[in-house]
Amino acid sequence: MSDRTVDCQQQHSIDESDWPFNVPLNTGVVTTKNIMERNYPVMEVLRDEEGDWLVLCGKTRETSEGMLVCFGCAYDKNPVIGQFADLDLGYEACRKSDESDWVISKITWDHD
Ligand SMILES: [Zn+2]
Repeated sequence: MSDRTVDCQQQHSIDESDWPFNVPLNTGVVTTKNIMERNYPVMEVLRDEEGDWLVLCGKTRETSEGMLVCFGCAYDKNPVIGQFADLDLGYEACRKSDESDWVISKITWDHD
């Protein structure tokens, strides 16, 4: 697992003691501008083979559309991701729309 934390000055709605994930609240996670800046719902939550977390909108995997944020901030934006705290390494949770059920599967990096 990479040790990658970000220096976040934001107040988070969740206390460290209630934090469900096994990495620090200020761990850097990859997400997209759609989610953080345009309020798109989260469609994919990935925990890669190294234990890094990705919180994606399902619309883009372009590097230019990605951003690194504090996990706590990503959580505050979409607390729905908290239910996937025990996702296994190399697995992802996806949904087709924000009203669909989540489906957990092994990560396949080539689908789009
Ligand atoms: Zn934060």
